[in-house]
Amino acid sequence: MTLPSKVFVGLVVGVVVGSIANALAPGDRTVAWIVENVAKPGGKIFFNMLFMVVYPLILASLALGVASLGDLGRLGRVAARTLIYFVVSTAIAVAIGLVLVNAVKPGHGLSPETRDELMRTYSGEAAQKIEAGKAAGGFGVQTFVNIVPRNPVAALAQGDALPVIFFALMLGVALTLMRKERAEPMIRLLEAINDAMGILIDLAMKLAPYGVALLLFSVTAQFGMSLLQKLGLYVVVVLVGLLVHQFVVFSIAVRTLGGMSPFDFFRRIRTVMITAFSTSSSNATLPTSIRIAEQELGVPRQIAGFVLPLGATMNMNGTSLFEGVTVLFLAQVFGVELSLGHQVIVIVLSVLTAIGAAGVPSGSIPLLGMVITTATNGKVDATAIALVLGVDRILDMSRTVLNVTGDLTAALYVARVERERSATSAVTSST
Ligand code: ASP
Repeated sequence: MTLPSKVFVGLVVGVVVGSIANALAPGDRTVAWIVENVAKPGGKIFFNMLFMVVYPLILASLALGVASLGDLGRLGRVAARTLIYFVVSTAIAVAIGLVLVNAVKPGHGLSPETRDELMRTYSGEAAQKIEAGKAAGGFGVQTFVNIVPRNPVAALAQGDALPVIFFALMLGVALTLMRKERAEPMIRLLEAINDAMGILIDLAMKLAPYGVALLLFSVTAQFGMSLLQKLGLYVVVVLVGLLVHQFVVFSIAVRTLGGMSPFDFFRRIRTVMITAFSTSSSNATLPTSIRIAEQELGVPRQIAGFVLPLGATMNMNGTSLFEGVTVLFLAQVFGVELSLGHQVIVIVLSVLTAIGAAGVPSGSIPLLGMVITTATNGKVDATAIALVLGVDRILDMSRTVLNVTGDLTAALYVARVERERSATSAVTSST
């Protein structure tokens, strides 16, 4: 059996066994014990094995990506194309979410009793998340200032992705500007780090069938089905939005911009989608997406190494769609009408915070509170996120699939354009 098939079997086994345990013995102490002492620790080991590779990989692959693009003009072109693609696709995702939530109005169906009960149950957790977001510096001008690290080693040690990315980009620029023979040893070192991380990823992925099964068992065995029923319409709106973006918008992008058959694309990236779904983390999935982009989609190393680390941190289509739907859902629940102007603000804020959110499980939740209060002029309090926290895990898993698929579509697109450019310039220079 190939690895992707084994990983798929892991997914099915985790979901089926977890759901059976949940249905036959809801709230059972033995199941809870197995989840806490076997499934979660086992899943966490797999998660950490992937995460362990991420920061050295971001540093090496981005710096190398920039250095091997060759000249700063080409770097500027690739960077501009990548960033524009990120912003436009993210904005399309929020727009899809807003159309659906305006049409279905899931917030109007939630009874005040359920609302108050959910607020009571989850407001402590909500307040904690909002505080954690504030402690990390909140979201504002300072967020952008902090992208430039005072100490890149500290940024690496703390796992601050954006400052590490900035440093790696600048290192790549410096290597491009240096004399070739002086840059060579550093480039070799980075290549060696990159290759070693590649081998570690392959080893970690051998654990994927088991890791995926354990992670999904933990989620499904303890999932609150009654909560899912209460918030059913809201969950359906988010999931339908995600499906439309994943299979309609991305298929169009893959066909027209990436020049590939969407069916082939989704088949080739299935391991990436399953890894994203089970880990709920774009960062933890980054090593796998770089491998698959190179090996399965034929994206050149320097493009994959440049676009995908940026994408894992900055390009979150699923997150922005989720944020847009959630803000409007909560406004509907609290009886606050959002005008078209305010909804445009929701789009802008969702795009910005999706760029700023960390690619870790529930990374966007601390920022969501800020979007809600700003978009509703303080009429809905940030702690309103309490209403959706109970179903966030399943939504997080699903939106992360979109986040990483979006990164791969971007890599495919940029690779195609660059390939065509070099083909044209080869023809022009030979004539
Ligand atoms: N879990 C998401 C990711 O890593 C971020 C989020 O939406 O919370 O891409």
